[in-house]
Amino acid sequence: MVSARRPETRWVTRLIPFALLGCLFFSTYAFVKHICIDFFIHSRHESSAATALLVVYFFFLVLMLFTYFRLFLVVQFNPGVLPLGPLAVEQRAKQKEERRKSGMCVRLREGDLEAHRYDTYSWPDPNPDSPGLEAFYSKDVFVCHTDGWPRWCSSCCNWKQDRAHHCSELNRCVKKMDHYCPWVGGMVGETSFKFFVQFTFYAMLYCAVGIVSAAFNLRTLIMSGAGVDGVVIGMLGVTAFFGLFAFAMTATSVRYVCLNLTNVDYLKAKTLVHQLAVRVPRGTPPSIGGIASGLDYQVITYPLSRPKSEVTEPSPQSSDRTFINESVSPRDLLATRTFAIVKTEKGENPWDLGVYGNWKSVMGNNIIDWLLPLKPSPCESAENNESFYQMGPLYQQLRSRYNLPDIPTNEKGGVELDELEKQRKHQGRGTGTRSSR
Ligand SMILES: [Zn+2]
Repeated sequence: MVSARRPETRWVTRLIPFALLGCLFFSTYAFVKHICIDFFIHSRHESSAATALLVVYFFFLVLMLFTYFRLFLVVQFNPGVLPLGPLAVEQRAKQKEERRKSGMCVRLREGDLEAHRYDTYSWPDPNPDSPGLEAFYSKDVFVCHTDGWPRWCSSCCNWKQDRAHHCSELNRCVKKMDHYCPWVGGMVGETSFKFFVQFTFYAMLYCAVGIVSAAFNLRTLIMSGAGVDGVVIGMLGVTAFFGLFAFAMTATSVRYVCLNLTNVDYLKAKTLVHQLAVRVPRGTPPSIGGIASGLDYQVITYPLSRPKSEVTEPSPQSSDRTFINESVSPRDLLATRTFAIVKTEKGENPWDLGVYGNWKSVMGNNIIDWLLPLKPSPCESAENNESFYQMGPLYQQLRSRYNLPDIPTNEKGGVELDELEKQRKHQGRGTGTRSSR
């Protein structure tokens, strides 16, 4: 279980479910007693109308509660965080130990330099065998920096998978991070977004039933000259407040699903340029397509060569990433992979599968999946040999735009990488050259 690191956030998160529960009990009491029993059955003698309303009300209430609990459990126990790098594990254990030793019962305040003195020390691990690095270059395409290295999180001390972002509340990288939601007790991201959409949708319908019933009750009482019911006015206020909120959240979330964006992506969707490492035939030189298409590109070959010095950390001020030329055996050469480093235009989304494809990637493949919070989103298991997430048509368009050569059939498949990994491990054991990190 990953909790928010700020104590005030943790307390708000703990208290909100009780506040919601209070509102729910009040609305249900007002609806059943004041609207259905007193108004429809006793005053108007319309038992069938009261029964129909009760069925609809409790139908949406049950669906709303069911999706809420599913969402709450996923957010608490499977928020989709990426693993910490070995250095971060070590640093955070030290932090914990220091706090314990110094008897700090009082939690460290946010912004306290002492609390974060380990957080920003780590620069991208220059070790070619860095844990997790192979997961990137064994794909055909991944998000990279200008130098072709995958993105790095200096807090988690680990490589950042495509579409993951660092959440400062959890102090962890979260896959397809969307937003921190105190209403549901944590971070909404890849693993929970589907359930979040379903929850806000059912909450909106539940509130709509309450709003319409309360408004009808109040209108009838006013028209007949009878005094209005204060409890029903209170219920109208509560359901209208949450109803509007749920409507806004449903509309926004459905929009994100259809565009295959997250809240974080959307903030810079129009201006963001994605940089991608796209696999090309082994040994492809840089800018091969530049002459014809006017688009230049650099290339990078993985596994990376060993740095000049494995004991010296790269200086934060310098971008020194020069490497020694090891004598590479012909067999090793056959196991290398070359990537062209290309850019999208501003606002292009490499994962856009079209509205229906985007919808299915989050909400599921059929109407049962769309309506019930049972199965996880298909995009959670979309990782394959090609990419972390299913790529949209832009991927092939980029290949054509940069005139990238196709990968020959004899380079496809992962056999050569397995072979190389075995050799490297063997060499590392034999010569002791593997980094201790
Ligand atoms: Zn992180």
